[in-house]
Amino acid sequence: MFEYAPAPESRSVVDIAPSYGLFINGTFEAPGSTGGVFKTVNPATEEVLAEVSAAGPEDVDRAVAAARSAFGPWSALPGAERAKYLFRIARIIQERSRELAVLESLDNGKPIKESRDVDLPLVAAHFFYYAGWADKLEYAGFGENPRPIGVAAQVIPWNFPLLMLAWKIAPALATGNTVVLKPAETTPLSALFFADICRQADLPPGVVNIITGAGETGRTLVEHPGVDKVAFTGSTEVGRQIARSVAGTGKRLTLELGGKAANIVFDDAPIDQAVEGIVNGIFFNQGHVCCAGSRLLVQESAYDEVMESLKRRMATLRLGDPLDKNTDIGAINSAEQLERIRVLTDAGSQEGPERWSPPCELPAQGFWFAPTIFTGVTQAHRIAREEIFGPVLSVLTFRTPAEAIEKANNTPYGLSAGIWSEKGSLILAVADKLRAGVIWANTFNKFDPTSPFGGYKESGYGREGGRHGLEAYLG
Ligand code: NAD
Repeated sequence: MFEYAPAPESRSVVDIAPSYGLFINGTFEAPGSTGGVFKTVNPATEEVLAEVSAAGPEDVDRAVAAARSAFGPWSALPGAERAKYLFRIARIIQERSRELAVLESLDNGKPIKESRDVDLPLVAAHFFYYAGWADKLEYAGFGENPRPIGVAAQVIPWNFPLLMLAWKIAPALATGNTVVLKPAETTPLSALFFADICRQADLPPGVVNIITGAGETGRTLVEHPGVDKVAFTGSTEVGRQIARSVAGTGKRLTLELGGKAANIVFDDAPIDQAVEGIVNGIFFNQGHVCCAGSRLLVQESAYDEVMESLKRRMATLRLGDPLDKNTDIGAINSAEQLERIRVLTDAGSQEGPERWSPPCELPAQGFWFAPTIFTGVTQAHRIAREEIFGPVLSVLTFRTPAEAIEKANNTPYGLSAGIWSEKGSLILAVADKLRAGVIWANTFNKFDPTSPFGGYKESGYGREGGRHGLEAYLG
C-alpha cells in the first residue's frame, strides 16, 4: 500500500478582504441603517473568512432602483454589444479560475478537484454559451422580436454558489434584463468576487447588483414591487412560500427546488461503471446536489455484486482537507446542514434499515459526515422519502422494469434519474415513463450549458440552461 502524500493547493492565490459591502450600482457600499453584518466561515476549519453585509429593506430598494435605471440602456444595446460583455466576463472567469476555485472550496467546503474541474469550467462555459445567444434571440423560437422582462430578482443556494450564479445571471443578461442577485448566507464570497469581475469587464453600473444576507433579505427582494421576474433555486419549502407571495402580482417565476432521484441499476449494466456512477451520483459535492442519485434501485439479481463492489469502492474515498488535490469528500457546508443530515440518518437507523460506512477518520475541527449507505430501505422509510442533501445513499431493490419505474416515480419530487443497462431499448422505454426533468443513461451528474435542466412536481417549474433557459427571461 502506498500512502498519499498531502497535495494541498495554495490558498495564497486568493486575497479575501476582512469585510465586504453590498455591490449596488457598480460600487461596494456599506449597508444602510436597516442592514447589518454577519460572518462567513470555512466549514472545514470553522475559521472566519470575512465579515459580510446583510442587506436590509433600504438596501434592497437601492439595489432594485439601480437595476431599474440600468435596464433601459442595457436592453437597448444591440445583442452583439451585450455579447461582448458576456464574452469578456467568461474570459476573465477563465483567467481567474484558480483563484475562484480555491475561494469556492474555502467558503463552501467542496474538494478543490471538483471546484477546479467541474464548477469553474462550467461557470465559464455558461457565460460563453449565453454570450453566443445574445445577438441571435430572434432565432431562438420565442417570436420575431423577443423582449426582455425587466429587473430579475435571483436567489441562489450554497451548494454550487458560483455555478448557480452563472445559471441565473448569464441568460438574464444575454436577453437584456438587469439583475439583483442574493447568494446564500453561508457562501457569499464567490458572488462578491464576481461583482469585482463585473467591474473588471466594465459592465455598466446597475446591470448586476449583488446583495448579501440571509432568508429575510431574500424574502424582501422577491417581494419587492419593483421586480418583474423572480428566479429561485433552493428548498421546496422556501419555493412554496415564494410561489405564494408572487401569486397574483404579475411577476414571472421560475423555481428550481429539491430532489430525491432514483439511480436505477439493471442486472445487465456494466457493474464497474455503474458503481462509479453511483459514487459520483451521491458522494459528489458531499451529496449537496439537488439532482443527487440519493435512492439507489438495484435489480435483485445484481444486488450482491453491486453492493460488494460499491462498498469496496467507498472504502477508497478520501475524506478531508478540501484544498488537498486528492480529497474526494470535503466538508459539510454548515453546522445546520450537518445537524439536518444527522437527524435524518438517526431516523434511518431507528426505522430498521442497516447502516454502513467505510472506516473513515473525521477531522476534529469543522463539519464532517462519513459517506454512508443504508440497505434494506423500503419506500415508507423517511430516508427514502425526504431529501437528505448529504453523503447518504438509500438502497432499495426491484425485480422488473415496471417495479423500478413505480418505485422511482413514488416521490413528490421529479428532478433527475439515472438508468444503467446495456440495452438501449430498455433505457428508452424506462426513461419514457420516469417523471423527472433530466434522465442520465449509463452516466450521472453530467451537466452542459446547452442542455435544459429543471423539475417536475415539487422539484419546481421552468427550465435553466440551453435554448429553453432563454424563455424564462423573455417577455
Ligand atoms: P434554502 O431554500 O434554505 O435557501 C436557498 C436560498 O434562499 C438562500 O439564499 C436563502 O437565503 C434564501 N431564502 C431563505 N428563505 C427565503 C425566503 N423566505 N424568501 C426568499 N429567499 C429565501 O435552500 P438551501 O438549504 O440553501 O439549499 C438547498 C436546497 O436547494 C435543496 O433542497 C436543494 O435540492 C435545492 N437546490 C436545487 C437546485 C435545482 O436546480 N433544482 C440546485 C441547487 C440546490
